[in-house]
Amino acid sequence: MAHKPSTIAIHNGLNEDSQFGCVVPPIYLSSTYNFTDFNEPRSHDYSRRGNPGRDIVQRTLAQLEGGSGAVVTNSGMSALHLLCTVFLQPGDLLVAPHDCYGGSYRLFNSQHERGAYQVQFVDQNNEAELQAALDKKPKLILIETPSNPLLRIYDIEKIARLAHDAGALVVVDNTFLSPILQQPIALGADFVVHSCTKYLNGHSDIIAGTVIAKEEKWATELTWWANNIGVTGGAFDSYLLLRGIRTLSPRIKQQQSNAQEIVNYLKTQPLVGKLYYPSLKDHIGHKIAVKQQKGFGAMLSFEFNGDEQQLRHFLGTLTLFTLAESLGGVETLISHTATMTHAGMSAEARAAAGITDSLLRVSVGIEDSQDLVADLDNAFKIAAQH
Ligand SMILES: *Cc1c(COP(=O)(O)O)cnc(C)c1O
Repeated sequence: MAHKPSTIAIHNGLNEDSQFGCVVPPIYLSSTYNFTDFNEPRSHDYSRRGNPGRDIVQRTLAQLEGGSGAVVTNSGMSALHLLCTVFLQPGDLLVAPHDCYGGSYRLFNSQHERGAYQVQFVDQNNEAELQAALDKKPKLILIETPSNPLLRIYDIEKIARLAHDAGALVVVDNTFLSPILQQPIALGADFVVHSCTKYLNGHSDIIAGTVIAKEEKWATELTWWANNIGVTGGAFDSYLLLRGIRTLSPRIKQQQSNAQEIVNYLKTQPLVGKLYYPSLKDHIGHKIAVKQQKGFGAMLSFEFNGDEQQLRHFLGTLTLFTLAESLGGVETLISHTATMTHAGMSAEARAAAGITDSLLRVSVGIEDSQDLVADLDNAFKIAAQH
């Protein structure tokens, strides 16, 4: 019987230990495994190729996303790099979002420059621009929704259909929502990629990634290449990732409910300009979000309607919002996009992407929402006095 995501997240790997009856699977640190006899290997021979703990978390991720198999890698970037290495040859075209994650932009651009493959960045909500890129017969198209940091929504079902008509494979970076809130394979994607560093682990204490494949033949190929180039995830990280995934569903629900309460509060604040959160009726793609997501997530952005001195007082007064990059952990983080996550972009490129110097991005945690709102309220009051 197929279980629901929160049951899959809890039950994978439990009670599998036949030696001691451990309820929770142990961490297998051994890098190598003995052969039972001459030419008689066991299920595992070397930990780069296969590790029992990594096997469990890979199986869990594949089940959560509705794929045939998954590979866990040592970062989100290596997951994307693995996928591109396997499916793109010199001359092949990758179509990527114009507002994709900064590290992804840098990876694709640098690989393009050294001739590993071609990349074209397009606004996938601009139909003419998307179709013109698809007319060039790309091998692979990457969709990232909601986007970072403006949380623009892209229609996975529609873009996947157009991409398949053009003969391309479709990968969705599902980092911002997790399989609890969005399941791209059911919407037509061939692969799902995550930075497991974010919501899947959820405790900001590992760097990890995954590629999940819809078809078994692709999962087999990705698994072979992950061992070949040596990007598979380690035993400790796999353990922490599996442990984090067990609480994914309640974490996301609490984070999302906190986010909505913060949005309700921010709407009333004079020092808040434009607000970006997919539940807002005027948000770009709100209707698509309602259709393709099971919730609006826990990332939000807003423009701070004050001068730099006020912004410094606001950020300096907050005690429950840590000024840091990254997202998806149980603790609330706030970042100033122009000087932090998107500092690598030129001012012109930021302006073209709609990112102003007053934009703040919040990854909402699981603290008490009243405490979070009170902390914001206090910081806005102090800022207003300057
Ligand atoms: C963080 C992130 C990545 C990169 O993942 P790492 O684990 O940091 O290597 C890729 N895509 C998105 C959307 C991310 O937020």
